Amino acid sequence: MITIVGAGPTGMALACGLRQFGVDVRIVDVADGPATTSRALGVQPRGAEVLARLGALGDLPEKAVRLRGLRINGEPALDLGLLREAGQLVVSQAWVEQRLRDRLSALGVEIEWNTPAPAAVPDGEWLVGCDGAHSAVRKRAGIAFEGEQVMENFLLRDVHARWDLDRESIHIYFDGPAMTTVFPLPGGLWRVMAPDGGRWTPGPVDSVEWESTFRIHRRQAASYRRGNVLLAGDAAHIHSPLGGQGMNTGLGDADNLAWKLALVVHGRAADRLLDTYESERRPVGARVLAATTPATRLVMGSGRLTRTARDRVLWPLLGAPVVQRRLVRFASQLDVRYSGPLVAGRRGGERVPAFARVGRWVLAGPPACLEVARDRLGDVVHHERAGETLLVRPDGHLAWRGPSTPGRLAAWLNEVLGVPATPRRTTRS
Ligand SMILES: Cc1cc2nc3c(=O)[nH]c(=O)nc-3n(C[C@H](O)[C@H](O)[C@H](O)COP(=O)(O)OP(=O)(O)OC[C@H]3O[C@@H](n4cnc5c(N)ncnc54)[C@H](O)[C@@H]3O)c2cc1C
Repeated sequence: MITIVGAGPTGMALACGLRQFGVDVRIVDVADGPATTSRALGVQPRGAEVLARLGALGDLPEKAVRLRGLRINGEPALDLGLLREAGQLVVSQAWVEQRLRDRLSALGVEIEWNTPAPAAVPDGEWLVGCDGAHSAVRKRAGIAFEGEQVMENFLLRDVHARWDLDRESIHIYFDGPAMTTVFPLPGGLWRVMAPDGGRWTPGPVDSVEWESTFRIHRRQAASYRRGNVLLAGDAAHIHSPLGGQGMNTGLGDADNLAWKLALVVHGRAADRLLDTYESERRPVGARVLAATTPATRLVMGSGRLTRTARDRVLWPLLGAPVVQRRLVRFASQLDVRYSGPLVAGRRGGERVPAFARVGRWVLAGPPACLEVARDRLGDVVHHERAGETLLVRPDGHLAWRGPSTPGRLAAWLNEVLGVPATPRRTTRS
């Protein structure tokens, strides 16, 4: 049994993933029911891919706002067409959570609300803290959350208003040291975000759906695993909302962890496989922190020097297609590539677009290799392929590439799984 603490996007994505691999899960949340307001508003292309693999994307693509660009003081500054084509969606986090809850329920799991994190779980069971920035699981496990505060007093407000603004663009306005960002949200809503309250408003507001003021921190857990306790999502990393990466990074953690935990729980892999969860995902979180903190200070800072650097260097640079392409690739999270013991061969660890939405192991090669893969991994989708054999992980990354001789694949699987071959059946819902 695996106990997941926290029914936010990370915890629910992990629960869905584990159920899809036939693992029993319990998911608890201290809140008395689902959140109705939304923090995240962007599902990046990688996040959409994870939701699709889980069967939880549903009608989000039809309901979402699809962004074309970013305007600064009314002028086009960044073309977001590539992100739009890659599948970026502007939707409420509450909607994403609703789709995940529906999927979880279809997979036979009901969230236990009003239930705090258990102090511990019995030996042989696993506890996963997906309980957000103030994670009780992380604190009890004694794992440090290292970092600092980046910005105080950041305002967020979702409003109904009839503003004459392009609803396929993000609008940033600078007025002296003050900055205000306006995002179009589905349903005719607008989100206004501003450090230190901002000043600018494009016109009268009909009504305020909700508002909140918060502080921005950059922090990362010193470790993602201690014994039978694992951390994922905001429990493991928090950072500025600039770039819309938080929820998406949590979905990526869940995606990476689910199939590994499933192999361990089914006895198909030694628990050292779970160390690769930290070695693969902690650098991804660190990369997000490393990018968003200086960007936040530069874009939102109000000091004279910062403003000069922003106006004279950053904005002109944004006009360069090469800079735009790099930003878009980063934001999409489609360029995440893993390294370490779990990937082998040319381009090992890269995402394989052709198999990215399958959500199961894929073997592209001869039947003899398929037999080896099924013996060791259980459920494996087969694609006939001449020449080299490819083994693609359920999270869509290339695990192994090699000659189409079953012995080579078997040797690699023996090494990474760390347990002798014992064919068992894994169910998939
Ligand atoms: C203003 C703002 C804008 C953002 N915009 C974006 C964006 O555009 N794109 C993006 O990707 N991200 C964005 N984020 C970040 C995103 O909201 C978070 O990264 C995301 O919610 C993390 O999901 P999670 O499931 O890890 O944690 P959470 O959503 O925090 O969920 C944690 C859950 O754990 C429960 N819990 C807490 N403590 C306990 C306990 N002791 N016992 C049991 N249950 C517990 C809580 O009730 C909650 O349901 C934004 C954040 C903010 C603040």
